[in-house]
Amino acid sequence: MALKLSDYRTLVFGDWCPGCGNFGILSAMHMALTDLQPSPSRVVIFSGVGCHSKLPHFVNTYGVETLHGRTLPFAIGAKLANPDLEVLAVMGDGDGLGIGAGHFVNAGRRNVDMTVLIHDNGVYGLTKGQASPTLRLGLRTKALPKPNINEGINPIATALAAGYTFIARGYAFDTRHLKEMIKAGMEHNGLAVIIVQQPCPTYNDINTKEWYGGEDRPDPKTGKPVPRVYKLEETGYDGVVRKPEEAFTKHVAALTKAQEWGDKIPIGVFYQNETVPTYQERISARIPSYLVNPPSKQTINDVEGRPVTSLSKMLAELQVTGSGI
Ligand code: SF4
Repeated sequence: MALKLSDYRTLVFGDWCPGCGNFGILSAMHMALTDLQPSPSRVVIFSGVGCHSKLPHFVNTYGVETLHGRTLPFAIGAKLANPDLEVLAVMGDGDGLGIGAGHFVNAGRRNVDMTVLIHDNGVYGLTKGQASPTLRLGLRTKALPKPNINEGINPIATALAAGYTFIARGYAFDTRHLKEMIKAGMEHNGLAVIIVQQPCPTYNDINTKEWYGGEDRPDPKTGKPVPRVYKLEETGYDGVVRKPEEAFTKHVAALTKAQEWGDKIPIGVFYQNETVPTYQERISARIPSYLVNPPSKQTINDVEGRPVTSLSKMLAELQVTGSGI
C-alpha cells in the first residue's frame, strides 16, 4: 500500500521562527519522500548543529543529530557500513561550509552515493545572527555591528571544484521545484548536493523572501515584482554529462552559471555526471563481497556475546599477488 505524506511526518511540533525558510525545506522533503516511497525504516537523515539540525525531528525516518560540522563523516560512515540505506545529510551553511568545510570538500573526492542538503541563509541563526561563510562581502545583516569584512564562499563553485557529481540549487519557498531537486539528488547514482536558498526572517533582513521574489524592484510598466530566482531548465541550460568527454565543457558552463547572484539567481541542476564511479563501486572492485556482505550484515558476536568476527575472507581478497616482492 502506498505511503501517504502524513506517514513521513512526525507529531513533533516545528518550533522554527514564523516565516522561516526551513518550513519550506521540510515540506519539500516530505513531498519528495512521498513521491519516491522509500520505506521509512530504510532512510536515515543526519544533521549537524544549527536551526537546520531539527529537521530530522519532523520526518518519520531514522534521524541522527550529530556534532557541529560533522554531519558528513557520520553520514558517509553509515552509508559505507550499510549501502542499502537511503542516506541524507542535512547541513547549515555555517555548519557545513565553515567548521565542516574540510569534510565538504573531501566528500567530493569519494562520490559516496547519498544526498546532501545545505540550508543557506547567510547567517548563524541559532547563535543570534553572526555572518556565516556564505554572506557576501560588505553586507550588513541586522545583528552585525559593521558590514561583513569577508567575501562569501560560493557553494556551487566549491562543490564543482571538490568533485560532487550532482550539484543543484533550490529555493525554500518554491517547494514543488525543491521537491524535484531533492528527488533528483536521491535518484542520482553518486554524491549529490542541493544548496537551498533559505530566508531567515529573524536575522537576515537583506536576503528576505521579498528580496528573492523581487518585491523591492517592481516592473515599472506592470508594477509586478521581478523575481530574482529563475529556473535553469526554463532557459534551455543542460548540465548533464552523458559521455566522460563532455565533463570539462559542462563543468565550465556550471562554473559560469555559479557566478550569477544578485539580480538573477539560477535554481535547478547545474551539473550532473554519472560516468564517475561511486565509492561503493570502487570498494566492490577491490572487495567483491562488499555489497553482499557489508559491515552491517556481518555477525560480530555469538549468542553469548563472544566476538566471532573473521577478517580472513576480506584479507584474502585484498592480498597482493604480484611478483618481485
Ligand atoms: Fe529560521 Fe532564522 Fe529563526 Fe533559525 S533564526 S529558525 S533560520 S528564522
